[in-house]
Amino acid sequence: MSEFEKNISDLSVFLERFKENGVLNHINGKSTAAEDAQTFVSMSPIDLKKICDVARSQSSDVNLSVASAKSAFSEWSAVSGKERKKILHNIANAIESRAHEIALIESFDTGQSLRFMSKAALRGAANFRYFADQAPFGQDGESTFTDAQTNMTMRVPIGPVGIITPWNTPFMLSTWKIAPALASGCTVVHKPAEFSPLTAKILVEIAEEAGLPKGVWNTINGYGEEAGKLLTEHPDIKAISFVGESKTGSRIMKQGADTLKRVHFELGGKNAVVVFEDADLERAADAVVFMIYSLNGERCTSSSRLLVQDTIREKFVQLVRQKAEKIVVGHPLDPNTTIGPLIHPVHEEKVKKYFEIGKNEGAHLLTGGSIDGPGGGPYIAPTIFTEVKKEMRIAKEEIFGPVLVVLPFESESEALEIVNDSEYGLAGYIWTKDVTRAFQFSQSMEAGMIWVNSENVRHLPTPFGGMKSSGIGRDGGDWSFDFYMETKNISFATTEHKIPKLGG
Ligand code: NAD
Repeated sequence: MSEFEKNISDLSVFLERFKENGVLNHINGKSTAAEDAQTFVSMSPIDLKKICDVARSQSSDVNLSVASAKSAFSEWSAVSGKERKKILHNIANAIESRAHEIALIESFDTGQSLRFMSKAALRGAANFRYFADQAPFGQDGESTFTDAQTNMTMRVPIGPVGIITPWNTPFMLSTWKIAPALASGCTVVHKPAEFSPLTAKILVEIAEEAGLPKGVWNTINGYGEEAGKLLTEHPDIKAISFVGESKTGSRIMKQGADTLKRVHFELGGKNAVVVFEDADLERAADAVVFMIYSLNGERCTSSSRLLVQDTIREKFVQLVRQKAEKIVVGHPLDPNTTIGPLIHPVHEEKVKKYFEIGKNEGAHLLTGGSIDGPGGGPYIAPTIFTEVKKEMRIAKEEIFGPVLVVLPFESESEALEIVNDSEYGLAGYIWTKDVTRAFQFSQSMEAGMIWVNSENVRHLPTPFGGMKSSGIGRDGGDWSFDFYMETKNISFATTEHKIPKLGG
């Protein structure tokens, strides 16, 4: 049996439970159907066939899940950081022991190739480990002194929080958000994306089997405009951590306004990679190709705008093209595959629309486009547009597929102007051997994260997040704790200082 055949056979065993029961909500430790028994259908992007039914939550389900998180809060927030650390490490162990199952199901549900999804499960475990180790220090603050007062700051968990995640790498992103919330002492209601609900159910079950008390983590399924919206409006939810499109972030901000929600947004991007003539072109080309074509191009930090200096443009674009054309597009469970099908025909429509827009705007489709793939799903080959101008929609809007647009530049100042002429500001990449240039250019780029001579390499203690329409707030390190916790100052009088006397 080939590895591919074994993957298919293992998958069918792992899927049995979903085929039998569908994807149910997980509230207060119990698998529960939506109260009015409504469901929607989840399908695999590989063959567009139904996988199973999924609970379609409405107001009573959201209320139930929030009530569960609220009632678990006093107990969980009182658990010591040391004990939370232990439980979160147990969750990480359990994720690792089921990494194969998670990777196969995630691939099948999202169309992301297994070569990346097998790492996503391990990254998920690493997220739990990192925040587990920080848990004992979450409440720490500082002391400041005056002659008559000693001030002590500390942090306390904010309360039950809502976490809303997208479909591009659902398992990894959920762990990234939920692990710090739990480490902080918050309880959670998680609403995964409707296109990719399967692994979220496995994750919450793993957590409870690993010792997380029931009710601390609840998962509800449903549509964004229904369950998601109700969650963001609920008065007992104290903060919303959201990953998704910028326009959805803006909606959530409005929805949460009446209850003054604290929000953390990780949104869209149109990230520039700037390649100067003195760069190591081979390494730069590998990084460009990796950042735009891994994860099917459905990646918030993808290097979707390639800015290349005029003097090396032809050579560099040829190099990228040669590599792009060798990428294997195919069944995501085949170990040889790099690019699988896009998440859904609705998303395919969006990506394909940009092929027309680009051509109508005068850009040149150098390579790529739609192709037939196994199962008949929405497959797109690695695509490159040249002759692109900065005013074009394909240069400005997030396509969220394996589509690279190439913009030439002559001078550093011209490159900087193009980079910053964007509503987004998530990530940026620079390739040059000139240290002074790299230093100055990176200072002036409007982006939350910049990598010099590197692809996106995530280091969990560093801040992750974007400027402008790409987000509000940062994840990672202590920034995550700051979001999920309230800072409190307690001031002690240390002498019998003079108190102003009013009225005698
Ligand atoms: P989306 O905004 O359509 O949906 C994300 C989630 O929000 C889903 O769970 C959805 O059900 C929910 N939702 C939709 N409308 C809602 C509403 N009115 N109220 C509450 N919840 C609502 O995004 P998507 O298409 O699933 O994901 C792709 C987007 O995510 C891209 O723009 C990508 O750049 C972004 N993304 C950003 C990061 C980052 O770290 N910055 C990471 C991954 C993805």
